[in-house]
Amino acid sequence: MEEFVTVEGARAMIAERLPPPQPELVPLNEALGRILLDEVICLEPIPPFPNSAMDGYAVRSSDLESAGGRLRIAGEVRAGQWPDTPVSEGSCLRIMTGAPLPRGADAVVPVEWTVDENGGVVINRGIEAGRHVRPAGQDMAVGERVLPAGVRLGAAEVSVLATLGLTPVRVGRQPLVSVLSTGDELVAPNETPAAGQIRNSNGPALAARARMAGAQVDESVTARDRTDEVARAVEAARRADVLVVSGGVSVGRYDIVKDVLDAAGMELVFWKVRQRPGKPLAFGVLGKTLVFGLPGNPVSSSVCFDQYVRPALVRMQGGAEGIWRGRARLTEEIAKPDGLHVFARVRIDTGAEGDLRATPAGAQGSNISMSLVRADGIAHLPAALEAAPAGTLVEVELLDPSRR
Ligand code: AMP
Ligand code: MG
Repeated sequence: MEEFVTVEGARAMIAERLPPPQPELVPLNEALGRILLDEVICLEPIPPFPNSAMDGYAVRSSDLESAGGRLRIAGEVRAGQWPDTPVSEGSCLRIMTGAPLPRGADAVVPVEWTVDENGGVVINRGIEAGRHVRPAGQDMAVGERVLPAGVRLGAAEVSVLATLGLTPVRVGRQPLVSVLSTGDELVAPNETPAAGQIRNSNGPALAARARMAGAQVDESVTARDRTDEVARAVEAARRADVLVVSGGVSVGRYDIVKDVLDAAGMELVFWKVRQRPGKPLAFGVLGKTLVFGLPGNPVSSSVCFDQYVRPALVRMQGGAEGIWRGRARLTEEIAKPDGLHVFARVRIDTGAEGDLRATPAGAQGSNISMSLVRADGIAHLPAALEAAPAGTLVEVELLDPSRR
């Protein structure tokens, strides 16, 4: 087991131990938010046939002078029909948006350019070939890679899969996450704390973060700082892919979580990371279950979840992280302890010159859960950085893309 690893070292040790994604077939209407396992190569042109972009008349462009002309209306073609009448010299077909372009026609004159005149149509300007026609394959061409493997399926991706008829779709199975909150002081959110007690906020917060990362959450369990209670909860969590424990991993007298996990046979991979918040973070492997021991302070547990557990959950589903990152300038100094990587809660906005700025979201104490409400991003101050005065250019990432 390694003590006091770097943030980069911790990430690498976790990555080495992630199980490969497990495939699962889901119908398209249940695929939103899931991670696509296979890239999608387009096998049929979209649109499948040349069709009209307008309601109007399918014409031969060569039949019209630059000032237009008069054409005989030989029939009509609607969306969903296949035109049986070709467009011959001097004639046209009434055509609706989405209807296949009839043989012989090479352009569509919008209805707005025309006047109907007993059986014919007067068109008041000329048209070039191809105008208002959507060629086959214009949207998706045969052989084109339309979706990469590992993409999280949003509404746009669902549309592409539907267009190509790809249902059911092969996605990564959602990891099962068990959340265990430890602490003698905790009561459930719907209970009234007695003197000295507080409500358990980490359980619901970590369960919410796990769900946002696409996981299934088994159930949130609470245990007091007693070996038997924690041991029972750990045993029950063996069926989960990931156990997230909050509290009890520090160096206090009642921080027994590590000992219990040790007794259960967990291989402790690392404990303590050179970072703030979240120094006592522990990570290990218990059978097939990955175990993350997060510090109890609400900010530490949430930030550590996002930095280590979320990427693990996403990768276990076959995805890449997909969080927006950029560079921004600090508007204020942030205290920079020597040798620690700092995850600072910041608000990201745009300055007068279009430059991104990051402003600390109030007090940065690891107990200030309101800093996560005020913030929309994390600024990374790497361990090697000596100080972070106003003006420092830092890497920032969004806490949650849906917060902006
Ligand atoms: P610990 O890591 O167990 O030493 O806890 C550190 C701090 O976080 C203490 O102030 C705890 O009361 C607090 N804490 C631990 N677990 C929770 C929880 N589930 N919800 C809210 N606060 C917690
Ligand atoms: Mg505790």
